[in-house]
Amino acid sequence: MGAPFSRLTVVRADITTLDVDAIVNAANSKLIPGGGVDGAINKAAGPELGRAMMAIGRCPTGEAVITPGFKLAAQHVIHTVAPVFSQHKEADVWRLLGNCYRNSLALAAEHGVATIAFPSLGTGVYGIPINRAAGVAVDAAFQHADGRDAPSRIVFCCFSDGDAEHYRAALAARRGA
Ligand code: ADP
Repeated sequence: MGAPFSRLTVVRADITTLDVDAIVNAANSKLIPGGGVDGAINKAAGPELGRAMMAIGRCPTGEAVITPGFKLAAQHVIHTVAPVFSQHKEADVWRLLGNCYRNSLALAAEHGVATIAFPSLGTGVYGIPINRAAGVAVDAAFQHADGRDAPSRIVFCCFSDGDAEHYRAALAARRGA
């Protein structure tokens, strides 16, 4: 098993362009294709992805489900549902957001995924402050990587340089912990 930190990286990119085994989608609990990163992933994957999501039909907050990637380079899309910041007690937001990362990584490991990329779950329209969300994401990924061989590479794919800075700072803080 590689050292956990060497397996975690931050990139600034459009997640739909990444050549990884699985990308993670910030879905809604009804698995109806929406906007934001969900819209971008559905557009790039083609209409079969939305049909596959709607055939599953539901994913509770913090849980994860898997579909094929269809026209994407990624073989799989893992759909997880972040908590809406204003709809939960704050402690529950961090627990549920951590569950999104833990459950997505566990599902990836079950499916033999070696490389996986996450968007910044919950920090768009769901309103979770990114400075804290990045720490939760990094902690959950570090803990998974510390205990499991797969995935061997976990990418935090940020859509802006500012977002990427938050994830880099969270990685640096975790390394120093
Ligand atoms: P949520 O509903 O979980 O908040 P959003 O899709 O609104 O999800 O936003 C989550 C994050 O995904 C935001 O930081 C947003 O900037 C980012 N994002 C949007 N499109 C893309 C994309 N194509 N690639 C990577 N990240 C993206």
